[in-house]
Amino acid sequence: MTKKPNQGTICVQSGWRPKNGEPRMLPIFQSTTFKYDDSDQMARLFDLKDTGYFYTRLQNPTNDTVADKIKELEGGVAAMLTSSGQAASFYSVFNVCEAGSHFIASNNIYGGTYNLFGVTMKKLGIDCTFFDPDCTNEEIERLIQPNTKCVFGETISNPGCHVFDIERFARMAHRHGLPLIIDNTFATPINCRPIEWGADIVIHSTTKYLDGHATSVGGCIVDSGNFDWLAHAEKFPGLCQPDASYHGLTYAKAFGKNAFITKATAQIMRDLGSIQSPFNAFLLNLGIETLHLRMQRHCQNAQRVAEFLSANEKVAWISYPGLPTDKYYSLGQKYLPDGSCGVIAFGLKGDRDTAIRFMDSLKMISIVTHVADARTCVLHPASHTHRQLSEEQLRAAGIAPDLIRLSVGIEDVEDIIADIKQALGE
Ligand SMILES: *Cc1c(COP(=O)(O)O)cnc(C)c1O
Repeated sequence: MTKKPNQGTICVQSGWRPKNGEPRMLPIFQSTTFKYDDSDQMARLFDLKDTGYFYTRLQNPTNDTVADKIKELEGGVAAMLTSSGQAASFYSVFNVCEAGSHFIASNNIYGGTYNLFGVTMKKLGIDCTFFDPDCTNEEIERLIQPNTKCVFGETISNPGCHVFDIERFARMAHRHGLPLIIDNTFATPINCRPIEWGADIVIHSTTKYLDGHATSVGGCIVDSGNFDWLAHAEKFPGLCQPDASYHGLTYAKAFGKNAFITKATAQIMRDLGSIQSPFNAFLLNLGIETLHLRMQRHCQNAQRVAEFLSANEKVAWISYPGLPTDKYYSLGQKYLPDGSCGVIAFGLKGDRDTAIRFMDSLKMISIVTHVADARTCVLHPASHTHRQLSEEQLRAAGIAPDLIRLSVGIEDVEDIIADIKQALGE
């Protein structure tokens, strides 16, 4: 048997494996539909008796090839692409929840996810309780109810840069027969593989480092295949009882370790349709080919910038798990020994306007809503991404009103620091 390839090799070589005479590069199957010679073949696909392509809303070969590469990077058994990270977050939870269900999520998560869970999913009758991951197990376990279906957290939180104790929360979730869903967007599988720490489902906004060039909004869901749905059949009727919309098929029985992704594809994607465009999947694949190189550079640069900022007297506070003084340094050493990510959160001495003035003075570094791509950029969450949250919700989500989110790119670090220096008036 050949040795399992390392992450850098998977980034470059996995996914598309051309046969003799086929294109070397992953083709874009820009086709809505697929042709069959007889009607029975097509019917078997619709019954999920055969695997194959029939309509791109359900599956597309370009998308599946890229999902396969991400699956391998994360060490999972099955994966699917979605049109955005938001769709991946929603599908991953909705795949185990229905009206009347409850789940718990870390309050230290991306603002869009916080809103999705706290407001929009409530309208569907799915209730989320947010917990502070710094609380004790007893305090958090008290939030688990008989109708609780999953636990959700982010490896490195956007924008606070807090590190989530994956192993601790996996143990807690499993004690209660619940799967742990981890948003691994900021760490990427180069710096952390949550499945190895007990996570059951891993999701990504591929819009960020995986694409890495700010070209394509996208998402991905990876299943570890480790959660035993049938052992908790009463909790997960969607997976463990017959699906009336699929001729009474029971996903957990028919598909075993592939049950979660098969249901999310055959039922949720079929009905809600947040498919990624094959063209975007092509660009995503191109991005992933250099993910291991870019992450290394993002982390080296961010470490230098974090050290510069932490030594600067105009900086009031800084959050970056690579700094030995950081609250999450030891968790970072455990889960992210090779580096965390390029994102730094910090505050300047002064008021909210001090942050705005600093950002407006930057020359090379631009103000964009985006984060985690090749170009260094900056954002003030309280004024931008999180402006729909109240001051109280901001505090609950661990976001200080003066928090500046600096996403350090892969430029020459001396130029990044020089721009920050001049914007600080030095
Ligand atoms: C951006 C982001 C999302 C949402 O992803 P989109 O691709 O913008 O829909 C979810 N989680 C995290 C951690 C993110 O940074």
